[in-house]
Amino acid sequence: MPSVHPAFGWNEPCQDGVLPGGPRGRLGNALLLALTLCLPLLPTATSAAKAEWLIVDTHVDTPFSMHLTGTDPSGPVATGDFDHPRAVAGGLGTAFMSIFIPPDADAKGEGLPLAHSLIDRVENLARQHPQKFALVTCPYDAERARKRALIGLAMGMENGGPIGGNLTHLRQLHQRGVRYISLAHGKTNVLSDSSYDLQRRWNGLSPAGRAVIREMNNLGILVDVSHLSDAAFWHVLDETTVPVIASHSSMRHFTPGFERNLDDRMVNALVDHGGVVQINVGSGVLTRKAHEWEKAFRPGFTAFRAQSPAPDAAATRAFIDEYRIRNPYPYATLDDVIDHIDHVVNLAGINGVGIGSDFDGVGDTLPVGLKSVADYPNLIEALKRRGYSKRAIRKIMGGNLLRTWSTVERYASERGTRPMCSLK
Ligand SMILES: [Zn+2]
Repeated sequence: MPSVHPAFGWNEPCQDGVLPGGPRGRLGNALLLALTLCLPLLPTATSAAKAEWLIVDTHVDTPFSMHLTGTDPSGPVATGDFDHPRAVAGGLGTAFMSIFIPPDADAKGEGLPLAHSLIDRVENLARQHPQKFALVTCPYDAERARKRALIGLAMGMENGGPIGGNLTHLRQLHQRGVRYISLAHGKTNVLSDSSYDLQRRWNGLSPAGRAVIREMNNLGILVDVSHLSDAAFWHVLDETTVPVIASHSSMRHFTPGFERNLDDRMVNALVDHGGVVQINVGSGVLTRKAHEWEKAFRPGFTAFRAQSPAPDAAATRAFIDEYRIRNPYPYATLDDVIDHIDHVVNLAGINGVGIGSDFDGVGDTLPVGLKSVADYPNLIEALKRRGYSKRAIRKIMGGNLLRTWSTVERYASERGTRPMCSLK
């Protein structure tokens, strides 16, 4: 998830290679229109449940979009990449809803109330629409949700800063269903340094960050290394007893020097420990071309925004539109996504890769053919074309993640934390 410009609630182009094109760009609107017109023809929940895959996507930023815009994804939404009709059309099993805490909210001491209000939103979505959604708080729930033709909603917290050194906060978040935590986001916080922040306050993890990891292991909360600095990544592997995940990270091999992505040595180490790398599909983290485009866009946009009085939403939109006309955005392709998957497989084998799309978190930068949760079938077709077997695709689309989650849950249960499932 990017940070968000408070004046107009758009994505700020400074974190995950995100453009402030709004939660959905023109292509997305066209897709929504097409979907709206075609709704009667879309697969029903029952047919989606019979899909051969249990698709688990570990990073979907919808709760923060709901917080900003008040949208209700139980029906078609005009903005964003996730809603129930498209999740059904795409055969989605479970999405980890990101409980995203912008670093400035954390700095102002507003992080915990925000986390709880975002969790409320996810809970309410499931409670108010029990025929459409189900809360998922253990791996088994993901299986049960699929069998009942429900879209599973798990939760991962993006930015552990608000926990600070207070393990009571951590336990409360676990009680409320949070099952992974990215220790930091775009700024160094009290737990860890961030890959985006040149200020390396801890040269890796802080002592509080190490204590939080030990308790996460005991509770069965997955440790997420996405967004961390390289030094913090290695400290995590040193501290954790159980496998960890990268909930939405891609390969640095394709974007040299970009610390937000994982390098080859990190991928090997993470997978050797039993973990899984969930590939982020924002074009800016997939290809050097899109990454460079976003770097070139940023200074001019920052200067534009710094004007006084601050430009309003319409002026900002006009600025972006005009820039994009002069400099067409180089969208990645499905082949680029598969290149990243191939890279993990070639380095570390088929058991270490999955999908953490960052839908609703990367604005109008999604690859051609992978614009929303309706498009997982396109990804599966692309994997087949690249020669992946059904068994391999099952692992990539969710099996690997559920295996790692089960391992972490088992370790916690051996230490007295009983698995807390939501579905009977
Ligand atoms: Zn992120």
